[in-house]
Amino acid sequence: MKHIARKRFGQHFLRDASIVHAIVDTIAPRPGECLVEIGPGLGALTLPLLERCRSLTVIELDRDLAARARRWQGVTVVEGDVLEVDFVRLAESFPPAPASIAPGQVRGGRLRVVGNLPYNVSTPILFHLLQVVEVVHDQHFMLQSEVVDRMAAEPGGRSYGRLSVMLQWRYEIERVLDVPPDAFDPPPAVDSAVVRMTPHLRSGLTDATLLGEIVTVAFSQRRKLLRHTLGRWLEERHHTGFFDTTRRAEEVPVSEYVELAAALKRNPAPAAVTDVQAG
Ligand code: SAM
Repeated sequence: MKHIARKRFGQHFLRDASIVHAIVDTIAPRPGECLVEIGPGLGALTLPLLERCRSLTVIELDRDLAARARRWQGVTVVEGDVLEVDFVRLAESFPPAPASIAPGQVRGGRLRVVGNLPYNVSTPILFHLLQVVEVVHDQHFMLQSEVVDRMAAEPGGRSYGRLSVMLQWRYEIERVLDVPPDAFDPPPAVDSAVVRMTPHLRSGLTDATLLGEIVTVAFSQRRKLLRHTLGRWLEERHHTGFFDTTRRAEEVPVSEYVELAAALKRNPAPAAVTDVQAG
């Protein structure tokens, strides 16, 4: 039966075979890997991926599309909202990683997460996965081109912001393919791009909440010098270390935000100050 695309689920189905081919080539899946696809839709990516890796898990919110996916051999279907999926448990459900995928302190397998994401919830999906980066081998996503610009942006430009810092802190980010609207049915109103996200192997600071708070304060008024935003915030925390606040938020490299978060973690604000803040 013909499926009518549902706007509320961000459904834009890939229909350009050469683009599909290029994406699958970029992912280069192999049997034995723990492939997880977000939003299989009508299977544009799922079926060619399956040909190469023989089995994969899909997460689909649309009940009709989930039912369709259950008919494909080798596919395990998780029906529901990806934002509610526990990826750590999902990783544990796979057998331990083959030697080709770096083993670590992870039980089960390391996930290769892929998907032509629903654009209306793409940023929440990226942040949901950021919390479980230790169980991820890599991620390949189709996103709005402008979102990929922001993810991969270098300091100094208008695209550089909270998304760039929070993601570059944990992943190598690489734009791999530009995709025009007419590659989809129905075509989206914006250009798209495929991004590869590979978690950095180095560990380090794990307090994403603190880093997130710093970056949110810093970029709250991006045209102003940091002394008016982050500088005040640091004063309230009696931060004594040096941090140059005569710059704008967009001029500060990711590493400096991360170092600042690490310094604050080592020397947290005195309890009284925190209490006053909380009250
Ligand atoms: N992969 C297919 C393709 O490339 O043609 C479909 C991509 S379409 C842009 C997004 C897919 O994600 C749809 O199948 C949609 O139903 C599904 N989806 C939307 N929101 C979702 C959510 N919160 N959790 C899981 N799947 C979702």
